[in-house]
Amino acid sequence: MGHSDGKRRRDWILSPEPIPASADVPVVGVLALQGDFREHRVVLGRLGAVTREVRRLDDLADLDGFVIPGGESTTIVKLMHEYALDDGVVALAGAGTPVYGTCAGLITLSRESVEGGAQTLGLIDIVVRRNAFGRQVHSFEADLQMPVLGDAPVRAVFIRAPWIERCGNGVRVLCSLQGHAVAAEQGQVLVTAFHPELTGDTRVHGYFLDKVRAHMAAGGDVVQNVTQLGRGVVR
Ligand code: GLN
Repeated sequence: MGHSDGKRRRDWILSPEPIPASADVPVVGVLALQGDFREHRVVLGRLGAVTREVRRLDDLADLDGFVIPGGESTTIVKLMHEYALDDGVVALAGAGTPVYGTCAGLITLSRESVEGGAQTLGLIDIVVRRNAFGRQVHSFEADLQMPVLGDAPVRAVFIRAPWIERCGNGVRVLCSLQGHAVAAEQGQVLVTAFHPELTGDTRVHGYFLDKVRAHMAAGGDVVQNVTQLGRGVVR
């Protein structure tokens, strides 16, 4: 690949997304500080959403939904704090915007992580154990029943995955493995310990977009003034 091709590709990755002409099309932000955010964008795009990579507080404006990808939760939490995105995302969720986290994203959204790690966002009332499946097998796949998706099992990819150790009363477990919850939701917050963005099965993202579309149809607020989010300081 020549120099100009490489430059073009980088421009494509970094350039801002146009706001869609139609108000019906959901705009979903994908946290792009670290991890497999591009894979989430591809799946969401295939399902008809417009996606935007989120790196700064400004990028949270006007979103209908937000995704935290897999990666390394300690890094994600630390970088979110550095860019004031932690308080921003808490405020976004507080306004009722649906949020979805996979694997490290699940840990980031949890109330607490018992296996070390930084302060999490506390947007879903679960206590998680980091790398819970990872010690024996670092990466594996399993076909799991997830009734909200219908009868066909979901192909679940686990990569140094956490499990959910405890759930608060308001949390609904959506899927379990080896006696531990690995997918759950509480209100507008959805989490999976596995990575649907790495398989061809788009149903989990479809389930999330159903929440996003329902929020939009109900006239749900989008947060326009990002200076109202959290600390409101891009540092
Ligand atoms: N083990 C990682 C963490 O603790 C998560 C791995 C993943 O997202 N695939 O953040």
